Amino acid sequence: MNPSLEYALRSIADFLTWQHRFRDVEGFLHDLEGYTLLQLAATGGGTGAVVEIGSYLGRSTAFLAAGSKGAGRERVVAVDHFRGSPEHQAGQPFASATLAQEGTTFRHFQSNLRRLDLDDHVAPVVAASADAAAAWRGPIRLLFIDGDHSYEESKRDFELWSRFVVPRGLICFHDIRAWPGVTQFYDELLRDTKLYREVVAVVSLRVIEKLPTAPEATAMPL
Ligand code: MG
Repeated sequence: MNPSLEYALRSIADFLTWQHRFRDVEGFLHDLEGYTLLQLAATGGGTGAVVEIGSYLGRSTAFLAAGSKGAGRERVVAVDHFRGSPEHQAGQPFASATLAQEGTTFRHFQSNLRRLDLDDHVAPVVAASADAAAAWRGPIRLLFIDGDHSYEESKRDFELWSRFVVPRGLICFHDIRAWPGVTQFYDELLRDTKLYREVVAVVSLRVIEKLPTAPEATAMPL
């Protein structure tokens, strides 16, 4: 078999393996979006933390942690207050049974990661995004923004966390074209920025790369 065909077939088999492994982890992340996160966590550029904003029951966390753990790279910092997004609340379109029963999704999140043997590669931060950002120190190489999908909150998450992302580091947004608020912010960002370029779009996942700039602009905050 020629090497490119062998590589293509091996990639399909690898995707199917992970799709099957995480089939019982509830969430709104498409299998292909998850597999993309796994690959970015395994082989994405830069050195620094992998940070997720909005973990819910741990579906995207699991894909990120599997990629990073398999490659022997950084643990995943999972930032969430675990009280659900607005759409997960009682009476809302995506009301969460776990949230209704327990008032938090944290226990369910932990049990999902334990069952998948990934809890040792995840550091949960049980806090609102803004509070966690205020306490954050250090570089980030991969940032996944999937918290509150409103325009204001996705803009705020980006502004609070993107400053820590290293040059050649990646920022991923979920639910582009699926939720109007985050979509509006993403379109504005790409229209106005010279600091980032889009590298891939998979279903509703969008990935941008921070471009290298002058040294003073990329200095990490202490
Ligand atoms: Mg989402």
